[in-house]
Amino acid sequence: MIEILLVEDDPVLGRGLSINLEAEGYRVHWATDLASAAIANKRKSLELVLLDLGLPDGSGFQFLKAIRESGSRIPVIILTAKTDEDSVVEGLQLGANDYVRKPFGDRELLARIKTALKEPQVRSHQIRYGDLLVLVDRRQVMYGDREIDLSPREFDILSYFVQHADTVITREALLETIDKDNELFDRTIDSTISHVRSRLKKSGLKSIEINSIYGVGYRLEKI
Ligand code: CA
Repeated sequence: MIEILLVEDDPVLGRGLSINLEAEGYRVHWATDLASAAIANKRKSLELVLLDLGLPDGSGFQFLKAIRESGSRIPVIILTAKTDEDSVVEGLQLGANDYVRKPFGDRELLARIKTALKEPQVRSHQIRYGDLLVLVDRRQVMYGDREIDLSPREFDILSYFVQHADTVITREALLETIDKDNELFDRTIDSTISHVRSRLKKSGLKSIEINSIYGVGYRLEKI
C-alpha cells in the first residue's frame, strides 16, 4: 500500500483528503504542523508528500527545504491557497514536483498524485545545498533564479562538491569522478576549482565557498 504524508492544518480539508485518499487505496499519515510532519517523515515507507504552505508553526517551504537538504527525493506536491506565482516558483525551486491550487477537485489531485508517483526521479533529481541548487539532469547550477555559467568539467566538479558537501574531498576522489579517461593532472583539478570559485563569486553567491584543506583536498561549506 502506498503511504502518503499529508501535511495540512485545516481540519476539514485534512479529514476529507484522508478519507478520500484512503478510499483510493492509499495509506495516509496526516500531520497538522511542521513539528509532527518532521516526526512522520521519519517513516522510510513514505512515497509521497502533500504539503500545505501555511501551517501553524511555520511555512511548508521549511519542511520542503529540510527534506531536500537531507537528500530526500520523495515526490512533493504543494497544496497552495496562494494565488501568486512567486510561491509556486519558490516551491518548484526548492524541489517540489508539482502543485495544486486550492480549492481543487479530488480527481485533479488524484491524477497529479499518480503522475508524481509514476515519474522516474528525473524531475526531482535536484540537489540543494544552502543557496545552491543543482539540476543534475539538466546539468545546471542555480543561485536563486540565476544560472551559474559553468563549463562541463566545472559542472562535474561543483555537482560532486554539492553531493558531498561539508566533507573533505581528496584530489584523488575528484580525479576519479571527473576524469574517467585518466587524462588529467592534479594541477588541472586545482585550476578547474579556481575557475569554479570565480564563477561562484561572479554570480554574487557569498554564503558558500570551496575551502582548500592543506595537503588533503577541498571542502564545500557554508560560510
Ligand atoms: Ca494551512
